[in-house]
Amino acid sequence: MEATVLDTMRTALRGPVLGPQDPEYARARAIYNAMIDTRPGAIVRCADAADVAEAIGMIRDAGATPAVRGGGHSGAGLCLVEDGVTIDLSPMRWVRVDPEARTAEVGGGSLLGDLDHAAHGFGLATPSGINSTTGVGGLTLGGGHGHLTRKYGLTVDNLIAADVILADGTWVTASETKNPDLFWAIRGGGGNFGVVTEFTFRLHPVHTVGVGFTGWPMDATPDVLRWYREFLPQAPEDLSGFFAVLSVPPAPPFPEELHGRKMCAVVWCYTGDPDGMDAAIAPARDAGEPTFQFTTPMPYPMLQSMFDELLPTGLQWYWRGDFFDRIPDEAIDIHHRFGSELPTALSTMHLYPIDGAAHRVGSDDTAWSYRDATWSGVFAGIDPDPANAAMIRQWCVDYQEALHPYSMGGSYVNFIGSDEGDDRVRATYGDHYGKLAQVKAEYDPDNFFRANQNIRPAAD
Ligand code: FAD
Repeated sequence: MEATVLDTMRTALRGPVLGPQDPEYARARAIYNAMIDTRPGAIVRCADAADVAEAIGMIRDAGATPAVRGGGHSGAGLCLVEDGVTIDLSPMRWVRVDPEARTAEVGGGSLLGDLDHAAHGFGLATPSGINSTTGVGGLTLGGGHGHLTRKYGLTVDNLIAADVILADGTWVTASETKNPDLFWAIRGGGGNFGVVTEFTFRLHPVHTVGVGFTGWPMDATPDVLRWYREFLPQAPEDLSGFFAVLSVPPAPPFPEELHGRKMCAVVWCYTGDPDGMDAAIAPARDAGEPTFQFTTPMPYPMLQSMFDELLPTGLQWYWRGDFFDRIPDEAIDIHHRFGSELPTALSTMHLYPIDGAAHRVGSDDTAWSYRDATWSGVFAGIDPDPANAAMIRQWCVDYQEALHPYSMGGSYVNFIGSDEGDDRVRATYGDHYGKLAQVKAEYDPDNFFRANQNIRPAAD
Protein backbone atom coordinates (compact mmCIF):
# COMPACT_ATOMS: atom_id res chain seq x y z
CA MET A 1 0.00 0.00 0.00
CA GLU A 2 1.48 3.33 -1.03
CA ALA A 3 2.43 5.67 1.81
CA THR A 4 0.36 8.46 0.28
CA VAL A 5 -2.78 6.30 0.46
CA LEU A 6 -2.12 5.58 4.12
CA ASP A 7 -1.58 9.29 4.76
CA THR A 8 -4.85 10.19 3.03
CA MET A 9 -6.69 7.61 5.12
CA ARG A 10 -5.11 8.96 8.31
CA THR A 11 -6.30 12.43 7.45
CA ALA A 12 -9.86 11.37 6.64
CA LEU A 13 -10.58 8.78 9.32
CA ARG A 14 -11.15 9.21 13.01
CA GLY A 15 -9.77 5.79 14.01
CA PRO A 16 -6.08 4.86 13.67
CA VAL A 17 -4.72 3.58 10.34
CA LEU A 18 -1.86 1.09 10.68
CA GLY A 19 0.64 0.17 8.00
CA PRO A 20 3.48 -2.39 8.13
CA GLN A 21 5.88 0.28 9.40
CA ASP A 22 3.81 1.01 12.50
CA PRO A 23 4.87 -0.59 15.81
CA GLU A 24 1.24 -1.56 16.52
CA TYR A 25 0.88 -3.33 13.14
CA ALA A 26 2.21 -6.72 14.30
CA ARG A 27 -0.30 -6.87 17.15
CA ALA A 28 -3.12 -5.60 14.97
CA ARG A 29 -2.67 -8.31 12.34
CA ALA A 30 -2.41 -11.12 14.89
CA ILE A 31 -5.71 -12.98 15.00
CA TYR A 32 -7.13 -15.80 17.09
CA ASN A 33 -5.79 -18.56 14.84
CA ALA A 34 -1.98 -18.36 14.91
CA MET A 35 -1.82 -20.62 11.85
CA ILE A 36 -2.80 -17.58 9.77
CA ASP A 37 0.14 -15.34 8.79
CA THR A 38 -1.43 -12.89 6.35
CA ARG A 39 0.06 -9.39 5.95
CA PRO A 40 -2.50 -6.78 4.92
CA GLY A 41 -1.28 -3.54 3.36
CA ALA A 42 -3.21 -1.56 5.97
CA ILE A 43 -5.44 -2.07 8.97
CA VAL A 44 -8.06 0.61 9.42
CA ARG A 45 -9.51 0.71 12.93
CA CYS A 46 -12.88 2.30 12.32
CA ALA A 47 -14.24 4.46 15.10
CA ASP A 48 -17.82 4.44 13.84
CA ALA A 49 -20.11 3.90 10.86
CA ALA A 50 -18.88 7.13 9.25
CA ASP A 51 -15.32 5.78 9.29
CA VAL A 52 -16.52 2.53 7.72
CA ALA A 53 -18.26 4.35 4.87
CA GLU A 54 -15.24 6.61 4.30
CA ALA A 55 -12.83 3.66 4.41
CA ILE A 56 -14.85 1.71 1.85
CA GLY A 57 -14.64 4.63 -0.58
CA MET A 58 -10.91 4.99 -0.10
CA ILE A 59 -10.24 1.27 -0.49
CA ARG A 60 -12.24 1.33 -3.70
CA ASP A 61 -10.33 4.36 -5.01
CA ALA A 62 -7.04 2.65 -4.20
CA GLY A 63 -8.13 -0.50 -6.08
CA ALA A 64 -7.43 -2.55 -2.96
CA THR A 65 -9.28 -5.59 -1.60
CA PRO A 66 -11.13 -5.13 1.69
CA ALA A 67 -11.50 -7.60 4.51
CA VAL A 68 -13.67 -7.03 7.58
CA ARG A 69 -12.63 -7.88 11.11
CA GLY A 70 -15.27 -8.44 13.76
CA GLY A 71 -13.80 -10.56 16.55
CA GLY A 72 -10.99 -12.04 14.43
CA HIS A 73 -12.07 -15.62 15.25
CA SER A 74 -12.60 -16.99 11.77
CA GLY A 75 -10.62 -20.23 11.51
CA ALA A 76 -9.85 -19.48 7.88
CA GLY A 77 -8.46 -16.01 8.74
CA LEU A 78 -11.06 -14.27 6.61
CA CYS A 79 -10.58 -10.90 8.32
CA LEU A 80 -7.18 -10.46 6.67
CA VAL A 81 -6.20 -10.40 3.00
CA GLU A 82 -2.65 -10.25 1.70
CA ASP A 83 -1.81 -6.64 0.69
CA GLY A 84 -5.47 -5.69 1.15
CA VAL A 85 -7.07 -3.44 3.73
CA THR A 86 -8.69 -4.75 6.88
CA ILE A 87 -11.66 -2.74 8.06
CA ASP A 88 -11.16 -3.48 11.75
CA LEU A 89 -14.33 -2.91 13.76
CA SER A 90 -12.72 -3.58 17.15
CA PRO A 91 -13.23 0.04 18.35
CA MET A 92 -16.97 -0.45 17.76
CA ARG A 93 -17.60 -2.58 20.87
CA TRP A 94 -20.71 -1.34 22.62
CA VAL A 95 -24.11 -2.70 23.63
CA ARG A 96 -27.30 -0.89 24.57
CA VAL A 97 -30.00 -3.02 26.19
CA ASP A 98 -33.63 -1.99 26.32
CA PRO A 99 -34.96 -4.18 29.13
CA GLU A 100 -38.57 -3.20 28.51
CA ALA A 101 -38.56 -4.04 24.82
CA ARG A 102 -36.15 -6.94 25.52
CA THR A 103 -33.81 -5.91 22.72
CA ALA A 104 -30.11 -5.17 22.43
CA GLU A 105 -28.39 -2.86 19.97
CA VAL A 106 -24.86 -4.09 19.43
CA GLY A 107 -21.86 -2.42 17.75
CA GLY A 108 -20.49 -4.34 14.75
CA GLY A 109 -17.13 -5.08 16.43
CA SER A 110 -18.54 -6.39 19.72
CA LEU A 111 -17.62 -9.76 21.16
CA LEU A 112 -20.10 -12.31 22.49
CA GLY A 113 -18.93 -11.51 26.01
CA ASP A 114 -19.91 -7.84 25.56
CA LEU A 115 -23.46 -8.81 24.63
CA ASP A 116 -23.78 -11.53 27.28
CA HIS A 117 -22.53 -9.21 30.02
CA ALA A 118 -24.76 -6.28 29.09
CA ALA A 119 -27.90 -8.39 28.72
CA HIS A 120 -27.20 -10.41 31.88
CA GLY A 121 -27.52 -7.28 33.97
CA PHE A 122 -31.21 -7.35 33.06
CA GLY A 123 -31.64 -11.12 33.37
CA LEU A 124 -31.67 -11.46 29.58
CA ALA A 125 -29.69 -13.22 26.84
CA THR A 126 -29.85 -14.25 23.20
CA PRO A 127 -28.43 -17.42 21.62
CA SER A 128 -24.85 -17.17 20.37
CA GLY A 129 -21.69 -19.31 20.44
CA ILE A 130 -19.81 -21.07 23.20
CA ASN A 131 -16.76 -18.79 23.61
CA SER A 132 -17.10 -15.23 24.86
CA THR A 133 -14.15 -13.94 22.80
CA THR A 134 -15.83 -14.72 19.45
CA GLY A 135 -17.09 -11.77 17.40
CA VAL A 136 -20.83 -11.08 17.27
CA GLY A 137 -20.31 -9.99 13.63
CA GLY A 138 -18.91 -13.10 11.98
CA LEU A 139 -20.90 -15.49 14.17
CA THR A 140 -24.23 -13.79 13.50
CA LEU A 141 -23.74 -13.36 9.77
CA GLY A 142 -22.93 -17.07 9.46
CA GLY A 143 -26.02 -18.09 11.49
CA GLY A 144 -24.79 -18.65 15.04
CA HIS A 145 -25.58 -21.62 17.26
CA GLY A 146 -24.87 -22.36 20.90
CA HIS A 147 -26.22 -23.47 24.27
CA LEU A 148 -29.54 -21.61 23.86
CA THR A 149 -30.33 -22.73 20.31
CA ARG A 150 -32.72 -25.58 21.18
CA LYS A 151 -34.67 -23.21 23.38
CA TYR A 152 -34.51 -19.93 21.44
CA GLY A 153 -33.17 -20.71 17.95
CA LEU A 154 -30.12 -19.61 16.01
CA THR A 155 -28.57 -16.18 16.54
CA VAL A 156 -30.07 -15.05 13.21
CA ASP A 157 -33.51 -16.17 14.35
CA ASN A 158 -33.22 -13.45 16.99
CA LEU A 159 -31.89 -10.72 14.71
CA ILE A 160 -34.44 -7.93 14.33
CA ALA A 161 -32.45 -5.48 12.21
CA ALA A 162 -28.96 -4.54 11.05
CA ASP A 163 -27.36 -1.33 9.83
CA VAL A 164 -25.22 -2.15 6.82
CA ILE A 165 -22.71 -0.05 4.86
CA LEU A 166 -22.78 -1.33 1.30
CA ALA A 167 -19.98 -1.67 -1.26
CA ASP A 168 -20.76 1.78 -2.70
CA GLY A 169 -20.47 3.35 0.76
CA THR A 170 -24.19 3.91 1.25
CA TRP A 171 -25.90 3.12 4.56
CA VAL A 172 -29.04 0.99 4.76
CA THR A 173 -31.07 -0.75 7.41
CA ALA A 174 -32.07 -4.35 6.79
CA SER A 175 -35.11 -5.79 8.56
CA GLU A 176 -38.35 -7.64 7.75
CA THR A 177 -39.75 -4.36 6.38
CA LYS A 178 -36.65 -2.53 5.11
CA ASN A 179 -34.61 -4.16 2.35
CA PRO A 180 -36.07 -7.57 3.25
CA ASP A 181 -34.00 -9.36 0.58
CA LEU A 182 -30.80 -8.08 2.20
CA PHE A 183 -32.16 -9.02 5.63
CA TRP A 184 -32.83 -12.53 4.35
CA ALA A 185 -29.30 -12.80 2.93
CA ILE A 186 -27.35 -11.59 5.98
CA ARG A 187 -29.06 -14.20 8.15
CA GLY A 188 -26.58 -16.90 7.19
CA GLY A 189 -24.92 -15.50 4.06
CA GLY A 190 -21.80 -14.26 5.89
CA GLY A 191 -19.96 -11.00 5.26
CA ASN A 192 -20.76 -10.97 1.54
CA PHE A 193 -23.19 -8.07 1.40
CA GLY A 194 -21.66 -5.19 3.33
CA VAL A 195 -20.27 -4.16 6.69
CA VAL A 196 -22.74 -4.42 9.56
CA THR A 197 -22.12 -1.54 11.92
CA GLU A 198 -25.00 -2.33 14.26
CA PHE A 199 -27.10 -5.40 15.05
CA THR A 200 -30.42 -5.36 16.93
CA PHE A 201 -31.31 -8.59 18.72
CA ARG A 202 -34.34 -9.95 20.55
CA LEU A 203 -33.52 -11.02 24.12
CA HIS A 204 -35.03 -13.70 26.35
CA PRO A 205 -35.23 -14.22 30.08
CA VAL A 206 -32.08 -16.21 30.91
CA HIS A 207 -30.06 -15.61 34.06
CA THR A 208 -28.68 -18.53 36.03
CA VAL A 209 -28.46 -21.76 34.08
CA GLY A 210 -27.64 -25.33 35.05
CA VAL A 211 -24.25 -26.38 33.66
CA GLY A 212 -22.98 -29.92 33.57
CA PHE A 213 -20.44 -32.36 32.19
CA THR A 214 -20.90 -36.11 31.92
CA GLY A 215 -17.81 -38.03 30.78
CA TRP A 216 -17.33 -41.68 29.91
CA PRO A 217 -14.24 -43.65 28.83
CA MET A 218 -13.53 -43.27 25.12
CA ASP A 219 -14.33 -46.95 24.64
CA ALA A 220 -17.90 -46.25 25.76
CA THR A 221 -18.39 -44.01 22.68
CA PRO A 222 -20.61 -46.53 20.81
CA ASP A 223 -22.99 -46.96 23.78
CA VAL A 224 -23.02 -43.25 24.58
CA LEU A 225 -23.70 -42.13 21.02
CA ARG A 226 -26.43 -44.74 20.55
CA TRP A 227 -28.10 -43.39 23.68
CA TYR A 228 -27.43 -39.70 22.85
CA ARG A 229 -28.89 -39.84 19.31
CA GLU A 230 -32.21 -41.05 20.75
CA PHE A 231 -32.28 -39.03 23.96
CA LEU A 232 -31.41 -35.48 23.01
CA PRO A 233 -33.81 -34.81 20.11
CA GLN A 234 -36.78 -35.77 22.31
CA ALA A 235 -35.49 -34.05 25.48
CA PRO A 236 -37.24 -30.87 26.67
CA GLU A 237 -35.92 -27.77 24.90
CA ASP A 238 -34.72 -26.41 28.24
CA LEU A 239 -31.97 -29.00 27.98
CA SER A 240 -29.12 -28.71 25.52
CA GLY A 241 -26.06 -30.92 25.45
CA PHE A 242 -23.33 -31.14 22.87
CA PHE A 243 -21.52 -34.44 22.43
CA ALA A 244 -17.71 -34.27 22.32
CA VAL A 245 -14.63 -36.41 22.04
CA LEU A 246 -11.94 -34.67 24.05
CA SER A 247 -9.02 -34.90 26.46
CA VAL A 248 -9.97 -33.92 29.99
CA PRO A 249 -8.69 -30.38 30.72
CA PRO A 250 -6.04 -30.11 33.44
CA ALA A 251 -8.13 -27.92 35.72
CA PRO A 252 -10.90 -28.09 38.32
CA PRO A 253 -13.55 -29.40 38.58
CA PHE A 254 -11.93 -32.40 36.88
CA PRO A 255 -10.12 -34.72 39.32
CA GLU A 256 -6.36 -34.80 38.78
CA GLU A 257 -6.28 -38.49 37.92
CA LEU A 258 -8.46 -37.76 34.86
CA HIS A 259 -6.41 -34.84 33.51
CA GLY A 260 -5.39 -35.52 29.93
CA ARG A 261 -7.48 -38.69 29.65
CA LYS A 262 -9.30 -39.16 26.33
CA MET A 263 -13.04 -39.35 26.91
CA CYS A 264 -16.38 -38.96 25.24
CA ALA A 265 -18.66 -36.52 26.98
CA VAL A 266 -21.78 -34.41 26.90
CA VAL A 267 -21.54 -30.75 27.98
CA TRP A 268 -24.92 -29.65 29.30
CA CYS A 269 -26.81 -26.41 29.62
CA TYR A 270 -30.19 -26.36 31.35
CA THR A 271 -32.42 -23.29 31.18
CA GLY A 272 -35.17 -24.68 33.42
CA ASP A 273 -35.09 -24.32 37.21
CA PRO A 274 -31.46 -25.24 38.02
CA ASP A 275 -32.75 -27.48 40.84
CA GLY A 276 -34.29 -29.67 38.14
CA MET A 277 -31.05 -30.20 36.24
CA ASP A 278 -29.92 -33.44 37.86
CA ALA A 279 -33.27 -35.03 37.09
CA ALA A 280 -33.13 -33.75 33.51
CA ILE A 281 -29.80 -35.45 32.81
CA ALA A 282 -30.40 -38.53 34.97
CA PRO A 283 -31.13 -40.64 31.84
CA ALA A 284 -27.46 -40.22 30.86
CA ARG A 285 -26.74 -43.15 33.15
CA ASP A 286 -28.65 -45.33 30.69
CA ALA A 287 -25.64 -44.92 28.39
CA GLY A 288 -23.39 -46.57 30.98
CA GLU A 289 -21.86 -45.51 34.29
CA PRO A 290 -20.05 -42.18 33.77
CA THR A 291 -16.44 -41.86 34.87
CA PHE A 292 -17.13 -38.32 36.04
CA GLN A 293 -20.14 -36.05 36.24
CA PHE A 294 -20.63 -32.64 37.70
CA THR A 295 -23.47 -30.15 37.64
CA THR A 296 -23.71 -26.65 39.03
CA PRO A 297 -25.86 -23.55 38.69
CA MET A 298 -23.95 -20.74 36.98
CA PRO A 299 -24.63 -17.21 35.71
CA TYR A 300 -25.07 -17.55 31.95
CA PRO A 301 -22.07 -15.32 31.00
CA MET A 302 -19.84 -17.53 33.14
CA LEU A 303 -20.88 -20.57 31.11
CA GLN A 304 -20.17 -18.58 27.96
CA SER A 305 -16.61 -17.81 29.06
CA MET A 306 -15.92 -21.23 30.63
CA PHE A 307 -13.68 -22.37 27.76
CA ASP A 308 -11.90 -19.03 27.18
CA GLU A 309 -8.90 -19.84 29.36
CA LEU A 310 -8.49 -23.29 27.82
CA LEU A 311 -8.55 -21.79 24.32
CA PRO A 312 -6.67 -18.47 24.40
CA THR A 313 -5.67 -16.44 21.36
CA GLY A 314 -2.56 -17.65 19.56
CA LEU A 315 -3.09 -21.41 19.19
CA GLN A 316 -2.81 -23.30 15.92
CA TRP A 317 -6.31 -24.12 14.62
CA TYR A 318 -7.62 -26.09 11.72
CA TRP A 319 -11.28 -27.03 11.51
CA ARG A 320 -13.90 -28.46 9.21
CA GLY A 321 -17.59 -29.16 9.68
CA ASP A 322 -20.64 -31.03 8.40
CA PHE A 323 -24.36 -31.05 9.19
CA PHE A 324 -25.99 -34.28 10.37
CA ASP A 325 -29.62 -35.37 10.71
CA ARG A 326 -28.78 -38.85 12.01
CA ILE A 327 -25.93 -40.73 13.63
CA PRO A 328 -25.98 -44.23 12.14
CA ASP A 329 -23.96 -47.08 13.63
CA GLU A 330 -21.32 -46.78 10.88
CA ALA A 331 -20.78 -43.13 11.87
CA ILE A 332 -20.53 -44.11 15.52
CA ASP A 333 -17.64 -46.46 14.72
CA ILE A 334 -15.86 -43.57 12.99
CA HIS A 335 -16.32 -41.28 16.00
CA HIS A 336 -14.93 -44.00 18.24
CA ARG A 337 -11.89 -44.54 16.00
CA PHE A 338 -10.96 -40.87 15.54
CA GLY A 339 -11.79 -40.02 19.16
CA SER A 340 -9.29 -42.68 20.24
CA GLU A 341 -6.72 -41.05 17.96
CA LEU A 342 -7.09 -37.44 19.17
CA PRO A 343 -3.76 -35.97 18.00
CA THR A 344 -3.25 -33.35 20.75
CA ALA A 345 -4.69 -32.48 24.16
CA LEU A 346 -6.86 -29.64 22.82
CA SER A 347 -8.08 -31.25 19.60
CA THR A 348 -11.74 -32.17 19.73
CA MET A 349 -14.94 -32.94 17.85
CA HIS A 350 -18.30 -31.47 18.87
CA LEU A 351 -21.84 -32.26 17.72
CA TYR A 352 -23.89 -29.14 18.48
CA PRO A 353 -27.67 -29.68 18.69
CA ILE A 354 -29.52 -27.33 16.32
CA ASP A 355 -33.05 -28.69 16.59
CA GLY A 356 -35.88 -27.45 18.83
CA ALA A 357 -36.69 -23.78 18.23
CA ALA A 358 -34.30 -23.63 15.25
CA HIS A 359 -36.54 -26.18 13.49
CA ARG A 360 -39.63 -24.03 13.90
CA VAL A 361 -38.29 -21.37 11.51
CA GLY A 362 -39.22 -22.02 7.88
CA SER A 363 -36.44 -23.46 5.73
CA ASP A 364 -36.70 -20.55 3.25
CA ASP A 365 -37.22 -17.79 5.82
CA THR A 366 -33.49 -17.08 6.18
CA ALA A 367 -30.38 -17.79 4.11
CA TRP A 368 -29.36 -20.45 6.67
CA SER A 369 -29.96 -23.72 4.91
CA TYR A 370 -30.19 -27.19 6.51
CA ARG A 371 -33.07 -26.21 8.84
CA ASP A 372 -33.73 -29.93 9.17
CA ALA A 373 -30.25 -30.72 10.48
CA THR A 374 -30.17 -32.03 14.04
CA TRP A 375 -26.45 -31.48 14.66
CA SER A 376 -23.74 -29.15 13.41
CA GLY A 377 -20.49 -31.07 13.68
CA VAL A 378 -17.06 -29.48 13.99
CA PHE A 379 -13.75 -31.33 13.76
CA ALA A 380 -11.12 -29.09 15.35
CA GLY A 381 -7.37 -29.72 15.43
CA ILE A 382 -5.87 -27.40 18.06
CA ASP A 383 -2.37 -27.10 19.51
CA PRO A 384 0.05 -24.41 20.69
CA ASP A 385 2.98 -25.83 18.68
CA PRO A 386 3.28 -24.78 15.01
CA ALA A 387 5.30 -27.96 14.42
CA ASN A 388 2.05 -29.91 14.89
CA ALA A 389 0.07 -27.89 12.35
CA ALA A 390 0.19 -30.49 9.58
CA MET A 391 -0.66 -33.32 11.96
CA ILE A 392 -3.74 -31.67 13.46
CA ARG A 393 -4.94 -30.69 10.00
CA GLN A 394 -4.62 -34.24 8.73
CA TRP A 395 -6.62 -35.65 11.65
CA CYS A 396 -9.46 -33.21 10.91
CA VAL A 397 -9.42 -33.90 7.20
CA ASP A 398 -9.43 -37.67 7.67
CA TYR A 399 -12.15 -37.55 10.33
CA GLN A 400 -14.43 -35.24 8.31
CA GLU A 401 -13.90 -37.16 5.07
CA ALA A 402 -14.66 -40.48 6.79
CA LEU A 403 -17.93 -39.12 8.23
CA HIS A 404 -18.96 -37.07 5.23
CA PRO A 405 -20.97 -39.90 3.59
CA TYR A 406 -23.21 -39.89 6.70
CA SER A 407 -23.64 -36.10 6.62
CA MET A 408 -26.26 -33.99 4.85
CA GLY A 409 -23.65 -32.80 2.33
CA GLY A 410 -22.69 -29.34 3.56
CA SER A 411 -21.32 -27.71 6.67
CA TYR A 412 -22.02 -24.60 8.73
CA VAL A 413 -20.37 -21.78 6.74
CA ASN A 414 -18.35 -20.71 9.78
CA PHE A 415 -16.80 -24.18 9.99
CA ILE A 416 -15.55 -24.37 6.39
CA GLY A 417 -11.80 -25.15 6.43
CA SER A 418 -9.26 -22.59 5.28
CA ASP A 419 -8.31 -24.72 2.28
CA GLU A 420 -11.75 -25.92 1.19
CA GLY A 421 -12.95 -24.50 -2.10
CA ASP A 422 -16.02 -22.84 -3.59
CA ASP A 423 -17.78 -26.19 -3.79
CA ARG A 424 -18.08 -26.28 -0.02
CA VAL A 425 -19.59 -22.79 0.02
CA ARG A 426 -22.17 -23.93 -2.54
CA ALA A 427 -22.83 -27.09 -0.53
CA THR A 428 -23.37 -24.96 2.58
CA TYR A 429 -26.15 -22.99 0.92
CA GLY A 430 -27.67 -25.71 -1.26
CA ASP A 431 -30.91 -24.45 -2.81
CA HIS A 432 -30.37 -20.99 -1.31
CA TYR A 433 -27.19 -20.30 -3.27
CA GLY A 434 -29.04 -19.00 -6.36
CA LYS A 435 -31.04 -16.45 -4.38
CA LEU A 436 -27.96 -15.41 -2.43
CA ALA A 437 -26.12 -14.82 -5.73
CA GLN A 438 -28.99 -12.60 -6.90
CA VAL A 439 -28.97 -10.55 -3.71
CA LYS A 440 -25.19 -10.29 -4.02
CA ALA A 441 -25.58 -8.99 -7.58
CA GLU A 442 -28.00 -6.35 -6.34
CA TYR A 443 -25.97 -5.10 -3.37
CA ASP A 444 -22.37 -5.89 -4.38
CA PRO A 445 -22.32 -6.45 -8.16
CA ASP A 446 -18.50 -6.09 -8.42
CA ASN A 447 -17.87 -8.61 -5.64
CA PHE A 448 -16.02 -5.92 -3.70
CA PHE A 449 -16.52 -7.92 -0.48
CA ARG A 450 -14.81 -11.13 -1.53
CA ALA A 451 -12.52 -11.91 1.44
CA ASN A 452 -15.12 -14.25 2.92
CA GLN A 453 -16.78 -17.57 2.11
CA ASN A 454 -17.59 -15.98 -1.19
CA ILE A 455 -20.92 -15.94 -2.97
CA ARG A 456 -20.41 -14.82 -6.57
CA PRO A 457 -22.83 -12.22 -7.92
CA ALA A 458 -25.34 -13.79 -10.30
CA ALA A 459 -24.74 -12.93 -13.94
CA ASP A 460 -27.50 -10.85 -15.54
P1 FAD B 1 -13.78 -12.52 11.95
O1 FAD B 1 -12.58 -13.35 11.60
O2 FAD B 1 -13.53 -11.15 12.46
O3 FAD B 1 -14.77 -12.45 10.73
C1 FAD B 1 -15.22 -13.62 10.10
C2 FAD B 1 -16.01 -13.26 8.83
O4 FAD B 1 -17.14 -12.47 9.19
C3 FAD B 1 -15.22 -12.45 7.83
O5 FAD B 1 -15.58 -12.83 6.53
C4 FAD B 1 -15.67 -11.04 8.11
O6 FAD B 1 -15.55 -10.27 6.98
C5 FAD B 1 -17.10 -11.21 8.54
N1 FAD B 1 -17.53 -10.18 9.50
C6 FAD B 1 -17.26 -10.13 10.83
N2 FAD B 1 -17.89 -9.08 11.40
C7 FAD B 1 -18.55 -8.45 10.40
C8 FAD B 1 -19.39 -7.31 10.34
N3 FAD B 1 -19.69 -6.61 11.45
N4 FAD B 1 -19.90 -6.94 9.14
C9 FAD B 1 -19.64 -7.66 8.02
N5 FAD B 1 -18.84 -8.75 8.01
C10 FAD B 1 -18.32 -9.14 9.19
N6 FAD B 1 -19.75 -20.47 15.86
C11 FAD B 1 -21.00 -20.75 16.30
O7 FAD B 1 -21.99 -20.48 15.62
N7 FAD B 1 -21.19 -21.32 17.52
C12 FAD B 1 -20.17 -21.61 18.35
O8 FAD B 1 -20.38 -22.12 19.44
C13 FAD B 1 -18.85 -21.29 17.92
N8 FAD B 1 -17.80 -21.52 18.73
C14 FAD B 1 -16.57 -21.08 18.36
C15 FAD B 1 -15.51 -21.23 19.25
C16 FAD B 1 -14.24 -20.79 18.92
C17 FAD B 1 -13.12 -20.93 19.91
C18 FAD B 1 -14.02 -20.22 17.65
C19 FAD B 1 -12.65 -19.78 17.25
C20 FAD B 1 -15.06 -20.09 16.74
C21 FAD B 1 -16.34 -20.52 17.08
N9 FAD B 1 -17.43 -20.42 16.21
C22 FAD B 1 -18.69 -20.72 16.63
C23 FAD B 1 -17.23 -19.99 14.81
C24 FAD B 1 -17.45 -18.52 14.66
O9 FAD B 1 -18.83 -18.29 14.44
C25 FAD B 1 -16.67 -17.99 13.44
O10 FAD B 1 -15.31 -18.21 13.65
C26 FAD B 1 -16.96 -16.53 13.16
O11 FAD B 1 -16.52 -16.25 11.85
C27 FAD B 1 -16.27 -15.62 14.12
O12 FAD B 1 -16.65 -14.28 13.89
P2 FAD B 1 -15.61 -13.11 14.16
O13 FAD B 1 -16.32 -11.82 13.95
O14 FAD B 1 -14.92 -13.32 15.45
O15 FAD B 1 -14.56 -13.41 13.00
